[in-house]
Order: sequence, then structure tokens, then C-alpha cells
Amino acid sequence: MTVTEAADFGKLPANFLAAIVESSEDAIVGKTLDGIVTSWNRAAELIFGYSEAEMIGRPISVLAAPGAVDEMPRILEAIRRGERIAHYVTERRRKDGRIILVALTVSPIRDEQGHIIGASKIARDITDVTRTTALLRSVSETIPDGMVVIDDRGIVQSFSAAAERMFGYAAEEVLGHNVSLLMPSPYRENHDSYIAHYLATGERRIIGLGRVVTGRRKDGSVFPLELSVGEAILEGRRLFTGFVRDLTERQQTLQRLHELQAELSHVSRLTEMGQMASALAHELNQPLTAATNYLELGRRLLARAAGDPAKRAANILEDVAVQVARAAEIIRGLRDFVRKDNGERQTLSIGQLLEDASALALIGVRDSGVSVRLEIAPELPQVVADRIQLQQVIVNLMRNAVEAMERSERRALRVSALHDSAGAVEISVADTGPGIAPEIAERLFQPFVTSKPHGMGVGLSICRAIVEAHGGALSAEANPEGGTIFRFSLPPIR
Ligand code: ADP
Repeated sequence: MTVTEAADFGKLPANFLAAIVESSEDAIVGKTLDGIVTSWNRAAELIFGYSEAEMIGRPISVLAAPGAVDEMPRILEAIRRGERIAHYVTERRRKDGRIILVALTVSPIRDEQGHIIGASKIARDITDVTRTTALLRSVSETIPDGMVVIDDRGIVQSFSAAAERMFGYAAEEVLGHNVSLLMPSPYRENHDSYIAHYLATGERRIIGLGRVVTGRRKDGSVFPLELSVGEAILEGRRLFTGFVRDLTERQQTLQRLHELQAELSHVSRLTEMGQMASALAHELNQPLTAATNYLELGRRLLARAAGDPAKRAANILEDVAVQVARAAEIIRGLRDFVRKDNGERQTLSIGQLLEDASALALIGVRDSGVSVRLEIAPELPQVVADRIQLQQVIVNLMRNAVEAMERSERRALRVSALHDSAGAVEISVADTGPGIAPEIAERLFQPFVTSKPHGMGVGLSICRAIVEAHGGALSAEANPEGGTIFRFSLPPIR
């Protein structure tokens, strides 16, 4: 390099100064007040791509980036006035045409009399730094995790957009404040001592580990979050970088999952109950058969006896026989009902099916003040269906209807099978209950929709699936007499 104005560097020997200039990583350039280059160091060669020989004596404006051409005369103007320009960030064009970002510091050069005779310029290429910073910023703005940087006193230095959304604070409300602002008690009061403990002992309780902690939003609400903390030393300052992830949603999902699990285990308990009922039916069958046989024997013995008491006893035995037959009938129905579904379709008479299903559905209901009417139109066509499945649908609809009327003054249940206009068989179950609760009306047939404290809400979704599998459609409508009517139709055999 050529050190033209050696006097400006004070009393240091010129070759010593030249060595410093030469080894600098920043471009150091001397120029006249007209912008003609007078010195050009190695870093300048690397940063701008021009050799010293190419640049000495040439105007500095060859480095001007498009759009910044009048910038150089303005800088020289300021130098003439004796001003110094520090850390001015601007663009320059390299010899290969690439545009780079530089931070400039430009100072006047004076002669021994103090006259300004030129300018010295120090330029640092900050293209990569800027790119990295911009990249980091865009990353921290984009990732769903919030980023909070604090110093070793817990004072917030940086607060990302995601952190703003998570905590409900704008960055400027948090920057410069203690990070304990974002925590509920007792962490809020203790956080300073956590940092102090780490600084004193080096013992890591959270740095590099990650933990689930509690955060506090601006509105005072608290929420679970996962926190991972990293440590960095930047320009001699110790910083802690916290990445925070809101776990509220994940926790809600987990809770829903637990609820579903509970419901499922309920379903499996029901299945177990079904199996128990079937075993019970099997066990009860034997004593019932025995009882029937003893009854028969008793009747025969009584037939031979004479007198009023014997006649009365015979009548009583008649009644007993009817009740035993009924018990056997119920048990037979129960066994059929809980029997594993084998999906068998058969030709069925709807009337018979409705009678069987009603008998099952009304076990234990007859005394509850519900009047039941069964309407079966004459000469209904037969349908092809799975008897057990269809029974399940009707039992379900009837049980729902009875439950719905529990608090109603008028309790009338009407089950009917009629011809519909398209020649199909239409089955309806009508009650005089309170009607479908409006908040569930739209989702009535979806699984797990229920208005009952201990309901499972699967009944109607299963009913609809069964009816659809039979080529029909299940719907609900308001009963003109008050209450609800569930309706479905089944196509006849063709
Ligand atoms: P669950 O009976 O376990 O709640 P369902 O799927 O059988 O499950 O019924 C879902 C919901 O539909 C019930 O909780 C109830 O709110 C409503 N519902 C069903 N049948 C009737 C009816 N006949 N009258 C009024 N509401 C009914």
C-alpha cells in the first residue's frame, strides 16, 4: 500500500502503521477530496475485488451501487466540512458486480496545518452478518415456539412475535423488564434467586434440559408451557435464550383422549354386562325349566283332588305358569339380544319384530306410568333385515323415549309400523317428552353427543349406522303433540 499521509497517523513509524493497515480485516482506503483513491489495503482488495494497482488513482465512485450514486459526493461534502461519518451502513458494488452491504466509517485527513486534504475510509463487509441476523429474525418470527432472551439479571432483551401471541404482551411492554413478569407466583418472586444460584454454582436446573413450567399471560391467566433454555456469551455479555411452547392445546387434547378412553371402557363394561346377562340367562333357564315341570306335576295332582281349596290352588298354579312362561320369554329375548351379532339377514315380519323389541324395551317400564300403544298396519310387506340389529334400534329408540318422558306430565309412547308413500315400511317411535335439546340437535346422530349426565351418546349413532346399512334413513322431528318422533323406513323385498 501507499501511505501518502503518514503524518496523520501521529508519531508511529510509517512501516509499523503500514503493517497494521495491511493486516486489518476491514478495508482501509485513503482518498482525495475529489474521491480519487490514494491508498488501498489487502482487505479492500478482498472485499471489493479490485487490486491495489487497479484502484490507485481511480475515482472511488466505481464502487457505487446502483441507486446510491449521489451518496459518495454527499459523504465527501461532509468530510470537507470536517465531519466524521461513523458506522454508516450502505451498499457497494464489487468488481464482479455483486452488491454487498458495508458499514463505513469515514474521517477527514488533515495536513500539518490542519487543512482537510482527503478522507480515510474504513469499510466492513456485513453482508453475511446481516443475512444471518435477518434469517434468525425470520426464523424466530416464524416458528410456533416463542423466544425470550434475557441477560444475567433476568432483564428481557428480546421477545419474539410468537412470544407476544402466547403471553398477550407486546414486545415493548416486556423489553427491559424482569422476565418474572411472565411467571405466576411463587416463581415470580424467586426467579432472580434461580439465576443467582446458577451464576454462583454453575449448577444447571433448566439450562439445556427443558421442563414443563407455568406461564402467566398479561390478563393474569396461567397456562402450561414447555421451556428450554440455552446460554450464550455475546460481546462479553452472558445471555439466556428461552424457547417456550404453549402446551394448553396439547393438554386439552390429552384430556379429551382420557375422556374418550373412559367412554370406551364404559362401552367395554357394557359388553361385559352383555356377556354376564347371557350367562345369567343360560343359568336361569335350568331352574325355570325345572319350575315348569314341577308346575305341570302339581297341576296333575290337583286335577285328581276335589273341593274348593284344590280348585283355588289349581287357579293359582295357572297364574304361576303364566308368570314362569313370561320369565322364560324375557330370558330368551335377553339372550337373543346380547348374543354376538352374526350379521345374519333374514326375511322378517315387521309386526313380530316390533312386538318382540317392545317386550324387551319395556322391561321394568310398565309401572312407570307410561302408556304404550303399538300400531301395526295390516298387510305390511316383509323386509330383509338382521333381526337382532333392528331390535337393537327399536329398543334404543324406545328406551330413549321413556327416559325423555321421565319428568313429563303426559307420558304416551307410540310405536308404529305403516306403509309409506314409496311402498316401504315406515317405523316410528313417538314420545311426549320435552323434545330434542336445541344445543345438541345439530349433532344428534354423532357419537358421544349426549345431554345426560351419565349418558354415552353412542346409541343414536349406532342406530343410524344400522338403519343405513339396511338401506334406510333415520331422522328425528318434533311431535305435533309435543315431544319427539324418530322415524326410519325399510325398503320391502322386491
Ligand atoms: P345417550 O342416551 O347415551 O345420551 P343417545 O345417542 O341414545 O345417547 O342419545 C343422544 C342424546 O339425544 C340424548 O342424550 C338426548 O339428549 C337426545 N335424545 C335421544 N332421544 C331423545 C328423545 N326421545 N327425546 C329427547 N331427546 C332425545
